[in-house]
Amino acid sequence: MESRDADVCVIGAGFAGLAAARQLARFGRRVMVLEARDRVGGRVWNRRMPGGTVVSAGGTWLGKGQDRMFALCREYGLPVYPQHEEGDRIVRLDGANHRYRGTIPKVGAGAFASLGVAFARLDRMARRLPADSPWEARGARAMDARTLGQWLSSPVNLPSATAHRLAAVTMSLLFCADPAEVSLLGSLVLARGGGGFTYYVDSRRTETHLVDGGVPELAVRMAQGLGEAVRLSCPVMRIAQNGGAAQVTGEGLAVRARRVIVATPPATAARIVYDPPLPAVHSHLLQRLVPGAVIRVHTVHPEPFWRGRGLSGQTLAPQSPVAVTIDQTPRSGRPGVLSSYAFGPSALHLGRLGAERRRELWLAALAERFGPQALTPTDHLETDWSAEPWSLGGMMAHFAPGVLTTYGSALRRPVGRIHWASTESATLMHGLMEGAVRSGERAAHEVLLLD
Ligand SMILES: Cc1cc2nc3c(=O)[nH]c(=O)nc-3n(C[C@H](O)[C@H](O)[C@H](O)COP(=O)(O)OP(=O)(O)OC[C@H]3O[C@@H](n4cnc5c(N)ncnc54)[C@H](O)[C@@H]3O)c2cc1C
Repeated sequence: MESRDADVCVIGAGFAGLAAARQLARFGRRVMVLEARDRVGGRVWNRRMPGGTVVSAGGTWLGKGQDRMFALCREYGLPVYPQHEEGDRIVRLDGANHRYRGTIPKVGAGAFASLGVAFARLDRMARRLPADSPWEARGARAMDARTLGQWLSSPVNLPSATAHRLAAVTMSLLFCADPAEVSLLGSLVLARGGGGFTYYVDSRRTETHLVDGGVPELAVRMAQGLGEAVRLSCPVMRIAQNGGAAQVTGEGLAVRARRVIVATPPATAARIVYDPPLPAVHSHLLQRLVPGAVIRVHTVHPEPFWRGRGLSGQTLAPQSPVAVTIDQTPRSGRPGVLSSYAFGPSALHLGRLGAERRRELWLAALAERFGPQALTPTDHLETDWSAEPWSLGGMMAHFAPGVLTTYGSALRRPVGRIHWASTESATLMHGLMEGAVRSGERAAHEVLLLD
């Protein structure tokens, strides 16, 4: 086994780990980054489709408030371009497509309006939470004992069945889980850090820009800047601490360091052996922060044929297993790339089917909205994030009932020489790439202040 010495050993080369390592290196610290996969980026990933088109299969869009991400793109020379927004959107309700522009379609206008009222109410509740310690808010225990699903089911909050259906699908999109699995308080953490649910559900604010070559290219360039310090295919199995140092054991490599930053998803951090064992509150927190389920499919057509029919490519179909679609065509305008998603229970259901059956059902769902042309893509690629062993799901972990108030205080609290990063530990833009970068920079500052 090779051994190395470093000031800081960072575990995980997603945006959180890379942002931490970059910051530490800039301040002259000797850093080692150990990454389990044979690539950097983690939940951002450029994949080559069988026909050769490269698509970003994880985190993809930048939006308002992703200031650090935009700044990093500028710094590493990666141009961004605006998301294609022209044309009508489609909402598919009770078997019929309804085209609309703006934010609220005519059909179900009442339901959409009450959805807006409900989200504004949730946002008011979120604004009352202390950003750094939501578990200390007044009424935190009661809110944490309740699920988001229960809150949405109350006719006081969402008076009609359509409004409830729309709210449930929107929330399962955000958390990649049934709202019945998510704590009401936990859901508000997302809203508190990102400008409210009204921000997260408005693609005109959250998905304003794409990165030329895909945002994963930013991770590649950040890693290149760190050179030999990044070690791929090196899953970390054990972190031991004694008085003066920490010993990190990865595959074929042991690193002795003064400090360690664990920048992995909580679910994989929970699988590392800690010696001495983590305090119970930390260990239980990691075991309880479980990611949701999401399957994303890219379909390619010679050109974005939907644009020619006056469609933007954005659709929402709460009753379909493929709830959402969005145009992901490159800046050049060719080929046409449509990105579509199944979230939470729908992703679990579709994931159990054979690949052929899943593809058949998926394309049929797209054809309901885009016509028979959607049935014959020239290329097709699915990414099931639950099947990714170093992510174990996506897009992020959520807080189940009781977790925040019982274990939340451990979220960012260091354990001896171990510090914590990842989008799940971010206070601002939690769940997004921006949150990951900010969490990494925060962990780096903690370390810099100590040593
Ligand atoms: C389908 C999908 C769509 C998304 N869309 C968007 C979007 O449009 N905009 C947006 O802002 N965000 C989006 N996100 C969320 C965004 O991708 C994540 O918030 C962000 O990338 C998380 O970064 P991270 O560094 O916290 O974690 P990760 O990216 O998960 O990085 C953690 C790294 O740790 C490694 N690792 C794990 N365990 C170990 C171990 N034991 N030893 C060594 N290494 C280990 C992993 O391989 C990984 O590389 C999306 C996510 C998904 C899955």
